[in-house]
Amino acid sequence: MRESFLVAVLVLALLPSALSAQSRNVVLIVSDGVRWQDIFTGADSTYITRTGGGAQDTAALRRDFWRPTADERRRALLPFLWAEAGGHGTIWGNRALGSEASVTNGLKFSYPGYNELLTGAADPRVNSNSYGPNPNVTVFEWLARRPGFAGRVAAFGSWDAFDRIFNKNRAGFLVHSAFAPLPDAKAGIERPIDRLYRTTTRPWDNTMSFDAFMMAVVVDYVKRHKPRVLYLGFGETDEWAHEKRYDLVMRSLHDVDGYVAELWRLMQSMPEYRGNTTFIVTTDHGRGDGAKWTDHGRDVDNAEHIWMAMFGAGAPKLGEVRNAERVTQSQVAATVAAVLGEDYRAARPHVAAALVPVRPRR
Ligand SMILES: [Zn+2]
Repeated sequence: MRESFLVAVLVLALLPSALSAQSRNVVLIVSDGVRWQDIFTGADSTYITRTGGGAQDTAALRRDFWRPTADERRRALLPFLWAEAGGHGTIWGNRALGSEASVTNGLKFSYPGYNELLTGAADPRVNSNSYGPNPNVTVFEWLARRPGFAGRVAAFGSWDAFDRIFNKNRAGFLVHSAFAPLPDAKAGIERPIDRLYRTTTRPWDNTMSFDAFMMAVVVDYVKRHKPRVLYLGFGETDEWAHEKRYDLVMRSLHDVDGYVAELWRLMQSMPEYRGNTTFIVTTDHGRGDGAKWTDHGRDVDNAEHIWMAMFGAGAPKLGEVRNAERVTQSQVAATVAAVLGEDYRAARPHVAAALVPVRPRR
């Protein structure tokens, strides 16, 4: 009797600390069109060339990213991802080790991919990057209507298509993309970021901003508004690949790793996020092999192969996954909800299962 009473007291005393390991916040980060090969083996010597990769300063690229082994190369390219997800989280998609991560929409380009990963299911109607406002509800929109999330969901993207992908007018949360007017702007006060948005030359017209600009907006927004569910969509990794600039693909991907590290450290310094925040990092599609590395799409073989990483509260600690069942892009949506204790699939049975069990709600 006395012993079981003691056990009950101990369990109650331990409960809050056990629960604190679970997540109250989730950040989904997607860098567009990043090859799984670059994630797992780092810079590829075939493309650190003028002819194969369109690289300009090959000596500088080699100095910064070429190393004798694949493990050293990937750590030079993505030091934070490999320390965090590789060390205390999970990375799926190294096909050389028997871990497959795939796009299931069959189209292997952006809007169908973002639709699949944000809603939890491929939709054949979504067949163009100029497709209109998304008829499907994203997990972000679904969460924004759940108790505890009103005003605590936000999405930022370098690409203007995110307005349609998230269905900005219906979504019920902040969606900021490309060069749209900035959140927290004040009439009559021009901040440095307002000036940059107003004055910078736009290499991709108005459709794509710079990842660095987006990140400046995100850091400011997180400090002020402390969102619980946050989306970041980086676009330069795809743009530079289409332009056959492997050097700039490497540099923009390395920068994305730095942005992820910066945001993680910022959040860990804030009581709202410390110890109870999950990061998920992935891509919307892969790219072709050989000379087709610049391309992707329905007719490009192997561009369906992607990768996914997860770390922080509630993330499995499998490291680099080996010899496992295939995971799919469509599983990301339910995973975003599951780490928060929300069962997206129970509400929307057609979507793919989460990668983790639904955590008890806090
Ligand atoms: Zn593309």
